[in-house]
Amino acid sequence: MSVSRVPPMKCWICGGEGKTGEHLVKASDLRSHFGRVSQKEPVYFHTEERRNIPVGSCNSPRFKSKALICNNCNSSLTQPYDKAWEKLSEYLRSNWPVLKKNRKLNLSKVFPGTTRQSILDVHLFFVKLFGCKIVNDGVPIDISQFAVSLQKRVAHGNIYIAIGNSLGTVKHKYAAVSPITAVNEGNSSLFATWLYIVDVIAVNVVYSVVPGNEKALQGTWHPNRCTKFLKLRSIKT
Ligand SMILES: [Zn+2]
Repeated sequence: MSVSRVPPMKCWICGGEGKTGEHLVKASDLRSHFGRVSQKEPVYFHTEERRNIPVGSCNSPRFKSKALICNNCNSSLTQPYDKAWEKLSEYLRSNWPVLKKNRKLNLSKVFPGTTRQSILDVHLFFVKLFGCKIVNDGVPIDISQFAVSLQKRVAHGNIYIAIGNSLGTVKHKYAAVSPITAVNEGNSSLFATWLYIVDVIAVNVVYSVVPGNEKALQGTWHPNRCTKFLKLRSIKT
């Protein structure tokens, strides 16, 4: 007789015991965009395989990554990153008509007195989501640098972000995370890109280890060379 047991999945950030899956669309973005969500007033969830699955809570496991992280990494370690995105996301939504017209975002207005730290934290919020998606989707990108960045609160040198208006037309209220599209060479990805969309606002998250890939990175920012002004880009969704 043999007895086997699937070992508990480890936290991909620290190697501790994995407890929870990260929200792929942040619960606060879902709540502020969709308002009240309940069994009686559900939102509809779509995947590539199935459409219109009613979901009655913003905390549903359907919105969460299958890659697990531990309680500490989920709460105290990455909470400042979550909060920074929450603040920027809220600012974008409440000032969208003016921002869309001016095509430029003054980050010191969003984060007065903490601009540099807060834009690093926004970057790290997307580093966390990206890491969860890489593990979840089995994309051949080494996540050890993702984990180090999150643990040491330093930028990931190969991750760039663009924020802007989504060019797609949407008839209903809509939030989405696209699959990762990657360009691989041998057993590893050289370039990967995905989108985080809440209504008309889109975030394009890019990983690139291709030298001289300036064209593909046009309109993106990185916290090490970010000024307090961000250009808003039109993002094809
Ligand atoms: Zn952990």
